[in-house]
Amino acid sequence: MVKDNRSKKFIFIPFCLICQGFQAKGIVKYKWAGSITPLIEELVKRDVNIIQMPCPESQLGGYESGLKREPHGYAYYDTKEFRSLCEESATETVEKIKALIKNDYEVLTVLGIEMSPSCAVSYQYSNKGMVRKSGIFIEILKEKLSEENISIKFIGVNRKFVDKSLREIKKLFD
Ligand code: SF4
Repeated sequence: MVKDNRSKKFIFIPFCLICQGFQAKGIVKYKWAGSITPLIEELVKRDVNIIQMPCPESQLGGYESGLKREPHGYAYYDTKEFRSLCEESATETVEKIKALIKNDYEVLTVLGIEMSPSCAVSYQYSNKGMVRKSGIFIEILKEKLSEENISIKFIGVNRKFVDKSLREIKKLFD
């Protein structure tokens, strides 16, 4: 048999976790300008396969204008057009997850970005302050996984408290 040393562990990450240049204008105020380094360094060190999910906000209306977008909230993105774009990306992500599981790989987690109207796992800003609510892409992804009876842990990265997210990620390897 051919020797194959590949890792059998996978993690799905939001596009901007390794590409802060895709964030809306004025969002990148913390020290990590390209990748959220502490989290990515940990994943690289753990020899996990990393799959970058699409960035729905920068896709909306095409990348050229998407890359110039201003920050907007959940209500702005809660449209038929944006939901349909998220549906497509979520369907593709679920297809990958299903194929991985069928091939005996392990999907450890899906990471999101808290406070994002698209990629938050648990927390959003609203006109009433912070509320418990997933972003639209993550909401649709969770629904599609549940329809397939697939249970996967989601971890919301909070860029202001990266150490907390790092601790949660480390626990995946205990
Ligand atoms: S939509 Fe998601 S992937 Fe794109 S910049 Fe926002 S949090 Fe990152």
